[in-house]
Amino acid sequence: MTILLTGAAGFIGSHLTEHLLSLGHTLIGLDNFDDQYAPAIKEANLQLARLHPSFHLVRGDVRDRPLLNRLFRHYPIEAVIHLAARTGVHASVHEPGLCLDVNINGTLTLLEAMRAAGVGQLVLASSSSVYGDSDRLPFREDDPADQPLSPYAQSKRAAELLAHTYHHLYGFSVSCLRFFTVYGPRQRPEMAISQFTANLYRARPITLYGDGTTARNYTYIDDTVAGIRLALDKPDGFRILNIGGPSSVSLIQLVRLLEETTGRPARIDWQAAQPGDVQYTAADLEQSFSTICYKPNVTIREGISQYITWFRSAVEPVRTEFP
Ligand code: NAD
Repeated sequence: MTILLTGAAGFIGSHLTEHLLSLGHTLIGLDNFDDQYAPAIKEANLQLARLHPSFHLVRGDVRDRPLLNRLFRHYPIEAVIHLAARTGVHASVHEPGLCLDVNINGTLTLLEAMRAAGVGQLVLASSSSVYGDSDRLPFREDDPADQPLSPYAQSKRAAELLAHTYHHLYGFSVSCLRFFTVYGPRQRPEMAISQFTANLYRARPITLYGDGTTARNYTYIDDTVAGIRLALDKPDGFRILNIGGPSSVSLIQLVRLLEETTGRPARIDWQAAQPGDVQYTAADLEQSFSTICYKPNVTIREGISQYITWFRSAVEPVRTEFP
């Protein structure tokens, strides 16, 4: 199958690229290597994929309609996986306009280019942040998602709704996948596990916002990639699916696990909770299991151990791009 993958150079995109290439797919990877974090990290993410003859890297912006038109004309694209986004809750609080422009207008531009090209299969990256500070736990796909706490969460929900409109009007088959905090090798450097690990190895304090009881459902990257592939393999109308990990872990438990795995004690710098953060995320995975047989396999303990092994071999010796 020939697939257009936006955001291919990012954390999730680069892992997905390698996985789909290994299954024999042809990939058109579109990415603008934006400056949300060091573009050199994204170049490194694709080092292996770029050697593959079925991978075609296109440097460009998902909001560039003429470019998208050219791609759909040039390649026999059958499906689109849309991961490109301005990511990060806190970044979106500081730059709401850019976040909404990339995440909403970018999605709209892509949907329009797909419609014009007659391509109607889409897997869209959404986020657990759309649930806001819901006290119904675990989060289910049919819970209300109309009280976003950040521009980022709002933009992800808006993208889901846009995709639904294209399903309704033009018969697109759409899987909106709500990812729950993804971690593993190549995780974005500003995310908690990356930052905490880097600080532990540099003997710097770890900043914790709030009282340490905020909890997240953490998903190991291999499970997220498996969820995307399962959704791609079984398109069926319009659906929203949680793609989460096996359990939720509090911030302080996460720090203790990192201390244990690295063998390094943490110095904690406690700070007030940040605006836009939710208290708790937990994933109900019944729907994703019954529709696409998605089931996470990697426990947080196994995943953190694999992450630290990667960090020690890939990041620690270089120490340049990470904060
Ligand atoms: P990432 O920032 O590593 O990857 C996103 C990629 O999109 C980057 O390589 C960036 O250069 C590219 N990009 C940004 N704007 C673009 C544009 N206008 N045109 C083309 N490319 C552009 O992020 P990630 O963690 O790999 O996340 C991938 C997707 O999954 C995003 O949509 C994100 O919102 C979603 N998501 C991620 C998580 C997580 O925990 N990582 C959780 C929920 C949802």
